[in-house]
Amino acid sequence: MSDLEENKVSNFIRDIINKDIAEGKNGGTVITRFPPEPNGYLHIGHAKSICLNFGLARDYSGICNLRFDDTNPSKEEQEYIDSIQEDVHWLGFKWNQNLFYASDYFEEIYGYAEELIRKGLAFVDDLSGEEIRKLRGTLTEPGTESPHRNRTPEENLDLFHRMRAGEFPDGSRTLRAKINMASGNLNMRDPVMYRIVRADHPRQGNKWCLYPMYDWAHGLEDSIEGITHSICTLEFEDHRPLYDWFLNNLPALHHPQQIEFARLNLNYTVMSKRKLLQLVQENHVSGWDDPRMPTISGMRRRGFTPAAIRNFCDRIGVAKVNSTIDYAMLEHCLREDLNKTSNRVLGVLRPLKLIIDNYPEDKLEWFDAENNPEDENAGVRKLPFTRELYIEQDDFREEAPNKKYFRLAPGKEIRLKHAYYVTCVDYKKDEATGEISEIHCTYDPASRGGWSEDGRKVRGTSHWVSASHAVEGEARLYGQLFKTENPGSTTGNFLDDIDPDSFSSLKGCKFEPSIAEAAPETRFQLLRQGYYVVDKDSTPEAPVLNLTVGLRDTWAKMNK
Ligand code: ATP
Ligand code: MG
Repeated sequence: MSDLEENKVSNFIRDIINKDIAEGKNGGTVITRFPPEPNGYLHIGHAKSICLNFGLARDYSGICNLRFDDTNPSKEEQEYIDSIQEDVHWLGFKWNQNLFYASDYFEEIYGYAEELIRKGLAFVDDLSGEEIRKLRGTLTEPGTESPHRNRTPEENLDLFHRMRAGEFPDGSRTLRAKINMASGNLNMRDPVMYRIVRADHPRQGNKWCLYPMYDWAHGLEDSIEGITHSICTLEFEDHRPLYDWFLNNLPALHHPQQIEFARLNLNYTVMSKRKLLQLVQENHVSGWDDPRMPTISGMRRRGFTPAAIRNFCDRIGVAKVNSTIDYAMLEHCLREDLNKTSNRVLGVLRPLKLIIDNYPEDKLEWFDAENNPEDENAGVRKLPFTRELYIEQDDFREEAPNKKYFRLAPGKEIRLKHAYYVTCVDYKKDEATGEISEIHCTYDPASRGGWSEDGRKVRGTSHWVSASHAVEGEARLYGQLFKTENPGSTTGNFLDDIDPDSFSSLKGCKFEPSIAEAAPETRFQLLRQGYYVVDKDSTPEAPVLNLTVGLRDTWAKMNK
């Protein structure tokens, strides 16, 4: 991870860890975990948690486990398990042999439930989920105890074993912790620990018809793995008393410390897995890796670099209060990295034929083109130059609109990047459409390389490609998927705020030959156009480039 700008700015979690180490707690070790539920693809919010947990392990010479919290089989799939591993790796983190599945602990956790039953701290309830909810009370009123709350441990154990054996239908019984129905914290009002569900589990098959609830299982998973600091998002603050209650009542077990931090929120983005799944299932996007998705795989296909995402996560820091980060800041981190690392290439998105009348028809020259002015090791490549070229339609006007117009127009001279000065002498129009079909220029042989010996000034510089060498391909132009900062805030339905113009495709683009040779995921700066990445659909015969991000950095300007 040499390209990571390590940002060891302190935060409250590091303060806690430093104190624990100073006091010799946990023998001075740091063991964290990233515990995704495999019910969807990872998104940029998860990246924050990944960078935090794996980053702490790295900086304190500790360990970070990757743990699949696979306790809800009806929504979980192997596809998600695979994609999560790929995404964490791509972000640049390794778990080595520390890959775990919560479902591997089911037997052990079941044993701890029996222990709580024997202690009189858990009971089998015959109420339905609906009835339990009704008796739960409100923030201002206490709940009502279940009529089954006072069963003996023997009766509870017998019923619990029969629940596991499959004697009762789905949803007919639960195991509940016996805590306090009058607690001011609703999570402490005899929370459900197990429910009966018959579902095929990706790893356990139909071995189990009992599945543990998150709050019951999570602390035990942490404990079994010897986690020292169990870091989660703020919504779980009110669950911490329950996390601690379970572990305090199983005193032989290691007791990790739960610490909550503010989740990442980004404007113009939705991050709920339910909403992301809906976008995919209802075909509002092309898939989980649609380049407009805030998923790691979508961002990867969009051309994000792992370093840009890591830097972003480091910079936004870790806080205890929720806030929303400006999407422009994420783009700023992206541009900053791409500027350093991506080669500059020439590609014409909307081609217009340019013919140099005084350049010999069969002549071919090769110009040296610097790959990246920001990186002295990036080297140069050869660009073919011929009589017939393509330039951008936008770089020519029939009449110069004003004195500040420095592009091509009849009588105007511009520089062709890396090549020559050319002056427009004529242009042709298509009779039928009125569109300009070609422009004619003369070149100044003394301006070879794009510099004039007499020192005359030419303000405009255009990119170009040789017509006979260019490879024809497609540019996929992507913008933000949503047109409002907080999708759904006005109509209540986030789908209403999808921007129908967030994707368009330009076919017939003309790219310099080096683009055609580049493998998928190669990132470029198309000179004057923006940062682009080679798509997975790309072939050498028909390259496909995705627009990653434009060149203008609004966030850097705003924050100057
Ligand atoms: P859900 O629980 O709704 O399925 P989730 O986004 O919480 O979705 P998990 O798979 O449980 O998904 O998340 C794994 C880890 O990622 C958790 O520790 C969670 O706290 C963290 N995480 C999820 N979203 C964010 C976010 N926006 N910012 C920071 N961390 C997040
Ligand atoms: Mg979750």
